[in-house]
Parts: sequence; C-alpha cells; structure tokens
Amino acid sequence: MKKEQMYEGKAKKIFSTENENECIVSYKDDATAFNGLKKGTIRGKGEINNRMTNYLMTKLEKEAGIPTHLIKELSNTDTLVKKVHIVPLEVIVRNVIAGSLSKRLGAPEGTELKCPVLEFCYKDDELGDPMVNDYHILAMGWTDKKTLDQIKDYAFRINDYLVKFFKEIGIDLIDFKLEFGITADGTLVLADEISPDTCRFWDSKTKEKLDKDRFRRDLGDVEGAYQEMIKRVFSHE
Ligand code: UDP
Repeated sequence: MKKEQMYEGKAKKIFSTENENECIVSYKDDATAFNGLKKGTIRGKGEINNRMTNYLMTKLEKEAGIPTHLIKELSNTDTLVKKVHIVPLEVIVRNVIAGSLSKRLGAPEGTELKCPVLEFCYKDDELGDPMVNDYHILAMGWTDKKTLDQIKDYAFRINDYLVKFFKEIGIDLIDFKLEFGITADGTLVLADEISPDTCRFWDSKTKEKLDKDRFRRDLGDVEGAYQEMIKRVFSHE
C-alpha cells in the first residue's frame, strides 16, 4: 500500500498511496527537543503515539464533533490519513503554566490559569517557531479569518473534551499543541498527533510528569512514562 516516502520529519515519516488524497503516517521512536539540538530514542514511542492519537481522534470525532484527518489504523505504528495542506501554525492551548510560558511570564510551573490560554506559533524551524498573533497570521496570509475562527473554536472544544477525559484517568492536562490541515475538498480537519510528545501530562495526585519533559529535562524512565500514559488512556471506558 505504501508507495514512496514523501517526507521525513523528526518523529514521523509520510508515504504516498495509490489514492492521491490519502497518505500513510509512520510513527518513529526517534525523539528530538530544543529544535533538534537534543536527539535520542524512546523505545516503543512510535507505537504509543500512533495508538493514543488514533484513540483520541476517534473519540473527538464521535463525541465532540471535531473533524480529523484519521481514516484507519493500519498497524501499531502506521495509520492511513487524509492528505492535507497543513496550516503552518502550532496551535497551543494551556490550562496551567509550564515550559516556555513559565519563563516568559516569570511564574512558577504549576500555576493555574484563570481560563485557558490560546497561542499560535509560526511553523518554521529555521526561525525557531516564533510566537505570532492573529494580525501576523492574517497579514502574512497563512490562513483566512474564517479558518482562523474555526481553528480557535475547535481548539477550545478539544481542550474541554480532553481536560475532562484525562481528569477521569487521574491526569492533569497542563498544555498541548495541535496542528490543523485543509483536505482536497477544502475541509478544515485536526491533523498531526495528540500524544506525550505534544502534550504535558501530570499525574493529578503526585504531579509526576508523564510526557516528553522527562526526555527534554533528563528526568529518567521516559519509556515508563509513555507506557503509563497509554495504559491509562486505554483503561478509560
Ligand atoms: N509543543 C510541541 N511541539 C513544539 C512546541 C511545543 O508539541 O514544537 C507542545 C509541548 O509539548 C507543550 C506545549 O506544546 O505541551 C507548550 O509548549 P511550550 O511552548 O511550553 O514549549 P516548550 O517548553 O515545550 O519548548
């Protein structure tokens, strides 16, 4: 079914298929941080991120009415998805202060936010994915006003759904990053992944970090954290 490799990113490879409107995402165990400066391998990560993403996207479609690029899981690491033009934005939603926001605002990690915060970064590795606002996005023509409004609506609805979902399995959803794409028929859909690579997950009781920060910050037992997260996600009925 896989034809040729179209693209290789830091954590995934994309292959073309016989259908020009579909492609295959293949998740890798490779991990990078700090814009590629730190490199490593997290054993089992590809499988965990693939299966968690597909599980959550299926639920978001069915239970929250969010269109996604997902078509069908093909194997533990590979998934058939709709081919999209990615809107070149990282859409970040935050519920609790952590990571770069903690540095930017001089507030300790773990500080609750009074309401969710939405941020956009322009996807460009050479520029280090700079933070941008609505005006930059519209002035540069990265997307139009209607699509941007739809992205914001989806992002907050996804946050509401996921915060509740993770709370039920004893996890605080601190923040996460989404990417959206436009399909051949012009529909805006959720794309990319929802995994410990792209979300901050803290155990609700112990506040232990169960995400990629264990790799970024050399906290140890990275594999164990990813395994604990997939186990809890699949334990949700
Ligand atoms: N994030 C991501 N990819 C990026 C940047 C951020 O998936 O290139 C996620 C990150 O895992 C976290 C959230 O977006 O859940 C907010 O990240 P932040 O801006 O704090 O950046 P970081 O501290 O990860 O550099």
